[in-house]
Amino acid sequence: MAAKSIVGKINTDWKPDRSSGIPLYEQIVKYVCRKVSSGEWTAGMKMPSQRELAQQWNVNRSTVVTAMDELASYGIFESSFGGGTKIAGNTWSVLMSEQGPDWNRYISSGEFKANQSIIQIINKLEFDDYIRLGTGEPDPRLFPADMMKEIMNEMAENITSLNYLEPLGLQSLRDALAVRLREEGIDVPPSCILITSGSLQALQLISIGMLKRGSTVFAEAPSYLKSLQVFQSAGMNIEGIPMDEEGIKFRLIEDKIKRFNRIDYDHLLYTIPTFQNPTGILMSENRRSELFDFCRDHGMPIIEDTAYSQIWFGRKPPLSLKARDENGLVLYLGTLSKSLAPGLRIGWIVGPESVVQRLGDIKMQTDYGASSLSQWVAARFLETGFYDSYLLEFRQKMKKKRDSALKAMEKYMTGKADWNCPDGGFYIWTTIKDSISTDQLFKKALKKKILLNPSNIYDFSTNRSLRISYAYEDAATFEKAIKEIADMI
Ligand code: PMP
Repeated sequence: MAAKSIVGKINTDWKPDRSSGIPLYEQIVKYVCRKVSSGEWTAGMKMPSQRELAQQWNVNRSTVVTAMDELASYGIFESSFGGGTKIAGNTWSVLMSEQGPDWNRYISSGEFKANQSIIQIINKLEFDDYIRLGTGEPDPRLFPADMMKEIMNEMAENITSLNYLEPLGLQSLRDALAVRLREEGIDVPPSCILITSGSLQALQLISIGMLKRGSTVFAEAPSYLKSLQVFQSAGMNIEGIPMDEEGIKFRLIEDKIKRFNRIDYDHLLYTIPTFQNPTGILMSENRRSELFDFCRDHGMPIIEDTAYSQIWFGRKPPLSLKARDENGLVLYLGTLSKSLAPGLRIGWIVGPESVVQRLGDIKMQTDYGASSLSQWVAARFLETGFYDSYLLEFRQKMKKKRDSALKAMEKYMTGKADWNCPDGGFYIWTTIKDSISTDQLFKKALKKKILLNPSNIYDFSTNRSLRISYAYEDAATFEKAIKEIADMI
């Protein structure tokens, strides 16, 4: 079964050469044979539909049909009921590959689970000509190019080497973060901060370094965590806990943890209290304080993900859970990805020194540290005060984007959907009133060149919601796309 989900769909960016004089179908036959005989396309991989192939290869559908018929007659393809056309498993294609290794067997044996197929599609199409209505990245037009240029110039002048850095990351970056954290009520020395390659890596390090297989991670339902395979790949269960407008309804965890045998298995809580992904919910002060007490009383560690906490529009959000932590209960994750630049790949974990040392040791074994260039840039952004002055403007511009997005929602979605009004972050969690499948909507939207993030990516049970992001596209493009989606609904 694992092989089935992991062996991917073929995608080709090749096109036949119309000027070569060789018939197009013949060029296609040769191309496919070459891909199979070289072992690049392996048994079980799915061919796109004839319509998609005609589009990709820029030929008539009849040309595709002729070529596919010929290839099928060689035994290179096999068809399965409902499963489309695949590269054949045990006949000609294997002979063609001159007994090369059976890569599918290896691919399917790896511990790490494949991404959900919708996420694979989104990851690929984001770089084509699509409107990105669900993307969790800041608008590139808000990137502080001048500041970056100044810092890069300074770096070019000053850099003398690019060797590996110390296991916990660049000292000056950790110093600068310690100063910022103190301003947020978190008083920790730099020795309790580990720089990671984005906070995604922080989750990866925690999953492989700290938890037993079979442990349970509680998370808000829906949650960003559900869209990842990080914890599941490390053998953990993720249990979704419902939310209300104040945040996670943590008391529902009580009954569940009674079932656990604490000697064999651990459990912990993963939460995004501030502008949660995907719902945008801001956990209230009261809920934070009760949640913290609950976890402390039950000895349940917390992973607090603060990816969106700098992106507030009205009042500053309540203090983090970590700011209440005197017993080292909370592992705090921060990142520059949402508020500045996801491509820098700079995140950090704040936690007890023993935990940070352990995760730093694993990180050294995994990648010898986040990019030294990126760490240097990040440190200078913080030290120079550039980050703070940029953030002031970024918040204002993001608020404008949120406001115009909500206007567009009012105009086109009224009567068709319900949605929240986020006070920060990137997302409008939108629930369609009629009982339609958001996966179907995703497919329909693709035809109109719009990328959506349906709720099934994030949720523990199927429902009719979408994570709509106002972060990436400009207001006019957002409105155009929302109109299209409303028409489809
Ligand atoms: N946490 C949350 C809540 C996120 O939304 C994301 C990005 N979608 C991440 C972590 C990972 O971000 P990065 O690795 O770029 O820091």
